[in-house]
Amino acid sequence: MSRPDTRLVHEGEGPREQARPATTPIYQTSTFLFESAAALEAFNAGKGAGYLYSRHANPTVEAAEAKIAALEGADAALVTASGMAATSTALVGLLSAGDELVVSAAVYGGTVKLVTGILARFGVKVRLVPIADDLAAAIGPSTRVVWFESPTNPTLRCVDIARVVEACRAHGATSIIDNTFATPLNQQPLALGVDLVMHSATKYLNGHSDIVAGALAGSATLIERLSEARRILGGVLDPGAAYALARGMKTMGLRVARQNESAMRLARWLEGDPRVRQVLYPGLPSHPDHELASRQMRGYGGMLTVAVRGGYEAACRVFDRFELIGRAASLGGIETLCSMPVLTSHYGVAPEALEAAGVTDDMLRISVGLEDVEDLIADFDRALGP
Ligand SMILES: *Cc1c(COP(=O)(O)O)cnc(C)c1O
Repeated sequence: MSRPDTRLVHEGEGPREQARPATTPIYQTSTFLFESAAALEAFNAGKGAGYLYSRHANPTVEAAEAKIAALEGADAALVTASGMAATSTALVGLLSAGDELVVSAAVYGGTVKLVTGILARFGVKVRLVPIADDLAAAIGPSTRVVWFESPTNPTLRCVDIARVVEACRAHGATSIIDNTFATPLNQQPLALGVDLVMHSATKYLNGHSDIVAGALAGSATLIERLSEARRILGGVLDPGAAYALARGMKTMGLRVARQNESAMRLARWLEGDPRVRQVLYPGLPSHPDHELASRQMRGYGGMLTVAVRGGYEAACRVFDRFELIGRAASLGGIETLCSMPVLTSHYGVAPEALEAAGVTDDMLRISVGLEDVEDLIADFDRALGP
């Protein structure tokens, strides 16, 4: 009796005929096959395209990267396993012991923990700039990298990007902005002179709350250097998640336009309600940075924060009464989500630090989704109660 054929004869073979899929295939493979030693020699010499190993490069991942580069108007982009992987890849890739890193205190909590809890241990001189201080003025001749966010969480305060860029250029520092809240459609930091843009692609880029991913976009030189850092640090995105990310981005234009519109409508309605103490939305003339936002953003975004009358208990009651709006951390998806900053992003933060950040315990942060805005208003109206 003859032995069954156990050779994996179909692996690595192309489709039966020339196939041209309308979508990017998921190259769910860790490694890539080579024809010969000569083919590997050519690959190593940088001649002949091809792929070696998915921690280095993968076609599905590259397709997502090309879309992000196009959206940010960047030479190149790279995607990572999470927003924090993008942040750590960028900072570890760019900084050495003894370098000064200036970080705005009004950034994502994980970023603060990374720079103060880990990078500082490796000799990076971290300077956290208080929210009330002028970030541009804190940049000096020994500053190597500057990290900031605009708009910020949860008060949606804006940083004058052009001013920060000017100070960075004057001192030869690399500027990096976390552009997650704004999205590349509402804010184009590279056009304003920023060196590197970071995203938690988990949020608006993917837009469907079904993956965790990150991204960096910038000049070819910078991205090549950081791509090397990502290869070594290992925070690569799985091809399946890269597919979901690239698919989500196909509808980002429609999603963000609708979210901008609904957030403005909801913000206006909330501002006119006597049960509401304050509404923070950069699109409202009452917002302290309305003018700056109008100057440096093309849209005001889908994030807004509302402080209700009656303090923490009242805020909890409204939070608990939502029927349509979901109670969850995270943002940027198609479903409207509400989080209470004092119970999530700012949980356990000291009262003085909360005050400096302008965060109060009566605040509800809303990530506006794609529901009919009238349904969102009705949910708020019911939740605010009598
Ligand atoms: C969520 C978030 C991050 C972290 O991204 P992950 O994808 O959760 O790792 C960083 N910055 C901002 C502004 C975020 O909202």
